[in-house]
Amino acid sequence: MSNFDQTLVLIKPDALKNSLTGYIFSTLSEFHTGLRFAGAKIVHVTSMLAEEHYSEHHGKPFFPSLIEYVTGQIHFKNEPENQRVIAIVYMGRNAVKKVREISGPTNPEKAREEKPGCIRALGTVHLIKNEKGEITGDRMDNLIHASASDEEAEREIKMWFKPNDIPPSMHAYETRQSEQHFYYKNGKLSENYLPQSVCILAPGDIAWKSDLEGLQKIANNQPSSITLQAIIAKYLVNENRNEM
Ligand code: ATP
Ligand code: MG
Repeated sequence: MSNFDQTLVLIKPDALKNSLTGYIFSTLSEFHTGLRFAGAKIVHVTSMLAEEHYSEHHGKPFFPSLIEYVTGQIHFKNEPENQRVIAIVYMGRNAVKKVREISGPTNPEKAREEKPGCIRALGTVHLIKNEKGEITGDRMDNLIHASASDEEAEREIKMWFKPNDIPPSMHAYETRQSEQHFYYKNGKLSENYLPQSVCILAPGDIAWKSDLEGLQKIANNQPSSITLQAIIAKYLVNENRNEM
């Protein structure tokens, strides 16, 4: 436990829709939690980023509706300008535990019963139905995401934030300067520019060390413990191009 503990918070589309942003910021403020902002950004969540973020739930019955929810397609259908989340890195001793406690249980109905006053007590639960109208599960609109462990926080902060989104004095994870170009197009990595490709990194750019090592392995066709999508999802955020 240190003053450099960090956690990722996402203010989800239902919180934005219901104007609960200020309430969540107040509840998590330094005065109440002792935690400080290390980074914040408005993110139009691509399905690639959403699927990477919630990869542990891939294949579960509620997965498609969870992706629809976090990408803003439920609360801001046909309003792409409103399909966004606010991503924040909070920093300070016990950051993960403190934010999880204030957030409360995953299921808003359980949150209301077990922990009235927690943020998720203001959430809602909706039935999911298949094409035949049969109930197949629940969608939990629970207003906020909070990392569940220090390991999860590291994975998620690196997935949502580039090092330069966070002041260098607040970096909790190692960074490296890239010495080469990396471009991305149609699910493939390239070290040379191809028309319509996106430049992920150029020589001199700062990247998370683990991302850079992953990119180098992938470029050399070596096995990498991190997938290409998990690395590049954040570089495609707010790119204003069709999803690639
Ligand atoms: P989050 O990761 O969003 O902070 P959490 O850590 O409390 O939530 P997870 O188990 O990581 O819970 O689930 C991620 C999200 O998936 C939840 O926020 C919820 O919206 C959804 N979810 C989880 N379990 C279920 C379930 N059994 N039925 C429906 N939705 C679920
Ligand atoms: Mg979780």
